Amino acid sequence: MANNRNDEFVTHIASRAEDFPQWYTDVIRKTDMVDYSDVKGCMVIKPYGYGIWELIQQQMDKRFKETGHKNAYFPLFIPESLLTKEAEHVEGFAPEVAWVTHGGSEKLAERLAVRPTSETIICSMYARWVQSYRDLPLLINQWCNVVRWEKSTRPFLRTSEFLWQEGHTAHATFEEAQEETLKMLGVYRDFAENVLAIPVVVGRKSEKEKFAGAHATYTMEALMQDGKALQMGTSHNLGDHFSKAYGIQFLSREGKLENCFTTSWGTSTRMIGGLIMVHGDDRGLVLPPRVAPIQAVILPIAMHKPGVLDMADKLRAELKAAGIRVEVDDSEQSAGWKFNEWEMKGVPLRIEVGPKDIEKNQVVIVRRDSLEKQFVPMDNLAQSVLSLLDDVHRGLFEKALKMREEKTFDAKNFDEFQENVQKGFVRAMWCGDTECELAIKEKTGATTRCMPFEQEHLGDVCVHCGKPAKAMTYFARAY
Ligand SMILES: [Zn+2]
Repeated sequence: MANNRNDEFVTHIASRAEDFPQWYTDVIRKTDMVDYSDVKGCMVIKPYGYGIWELIQQQMDKRFKETGHKNAYFPLFIPESLLTKEAEHVEGFAPEVAWVTHGGSEKLAERLAVRPTSETIICSMYARWVQSYRDLPLLINQWCNVVRWEKSTRPFLRTSEFLWQEGHTAHATFEEAQEETLKMLGVYRDFAENVLAIPVVVGRKSEKEKFAGAHATYTMEALMQDGKALQMGTSHNLGDHFSKAYGIQFLSREGKLENCFTTSWGTSTRMIGGLIMVHGDDRGLVLPPRVAPIQAVILPIAMHKPGVLDMADKLRAELKAAGIRVEVDDSEQSAGWKFNEWEMKGVPLRIEVGPKDIEKNQVVIVRRDSLEKQFVPMDNLAQSVLSLLDDVHRGLFEKALKMREEKTFDAKNFDEFQENVQKGFVRAMWCGDTECELAIKEKTGATTRCMPFEQEHLGDVCVHCGKPAKAMTYFARAY
């Protein structure tokens, strides 16, 4: 029976090996995470997808609060004159800004940008709020949507409107701003690894890849199963660039008027695209337990036999009381259909209970990550489930790390570089020049992902141009 089921199943979605982009599209469609709307490039996030985002928000927000940040909300519209004050920033974002030109039928005196990011409007407010060193540091985060007009779009990975959080902080010194920038990158890394079960490489972006207007951008980069990289979150030290443009000044302890140093940092619904592409398999989605809207599904077997549904409900109540997100599937579908459906949806644990199991005081639990099946006593079931959920998390992280390691290559020369960069991450020495970076992209389609904090000396000269090397750098094709 199992074999038939598998054969039947694989006709439903493309295989990852044969057509990864189609597989991705099939998975998000079949699992009911998103729908396409009449607005080109915008997605509707349906309850199953939004449930993941809510769990991401909750657990990330907790980490922001623990590191001293508070939430606030700033306007969606940014006057053009405000947006254009920091020259590099506006140049970077200009091509993808959406503009509001009319209110009703009346033309506005000044165009309003729909926020592509909020540095400008937030800095203009900070200029009013910060007067003295006593007002610093100012540590604020905003959960909101932003709009960046995109030419080609893909649900979760690149859409014209997306959901995110953006942290914005102001400090008295460059060193404090730098400390904050790296601290929040650390928070992101902890979240990626310990919640999403995604291993990440952390480091600094090149001058070309850094945020428009930043002094320096730091990033966490993950590798997808197709060998392409995904930027999962960035943290920027903005130096005093925005403070100078927007006039964020404070009176120091010594009574001197000084410029602030600011940071910003963001992660978005893109992370959902990342977890799909890192963990998914040919049966569909595989959700890391800590963001799975349903962590365990109970399937009553032969559910019309006396006592089966009652037992399923009793077990659900027990698990729920232990804080586990659990559902009973008592629909009239066949068991085979239900197995496929919940596997497709990526639910970490499937718990089967039938008349024979009740007799033996046990349940059958099947792990979504390994498809491993085990008999588990009903006594202390919640404890067993909690511990299995942790095992699934660890299993997913280990598997993702192994996949990344297998797809990471060191290149000593440009032949090796070209050969391997189509397969995954390439680590190589690089000169740091933008021209060289552009030439590499032109020839291979790969971009610099980051200069990792953990450096290794692979040689003295740039892998491409032969000039003296500045840093070991990760390269990849990227989403
Ligand atoms: Zn070079």
